[in-house]
Amino acid sequence: MNDTIRNELESRLLEERDRLQEDLDHAVEESRDASDVGDLSNLKSHPADSGTQEDEADTDLRIAERATERINRIDAALTRLREQPDEFGRCEVEGKAIAIERLRLVPWTTRCAEHAPPR
Ligand SMILES: [Zn+2]
Repeated sequence: MNDTIRNELESRLLEERDRLQEDLDHAVEESRDASDVGDLSNLKSHPADSGTQEDEADTDLRIAERATERINRIDAALTRLREQPDEFGRCEVEGKAIAIERLRLVPWTTRCAEHAPPR
């Protein structure tokens, strides 16, 4: 892997990180809104709505959890890229270089397609 590709992957990681951070901020904000509506006066006046609001808060929480997990993987990838650039892009199972097409799609991956854990 050469510097051009490493720089390209680093930009991809940073872009994706920005995007996820926005999703995360948005989901956290939404879940805060959803739980605010669940105060006592609202529960009494709109009992039928409370279920829906809880579901929405659940969905936002799941989005936030997924975004956080992905951001952690991206941060780990950025650390590997900066601290061990020669090792970056190698499958953690057998040490073989991961296909560049795959790294462009999922630059935070630590495994080749063959050894990738099921989603
Ligand atoms: Zn592999």
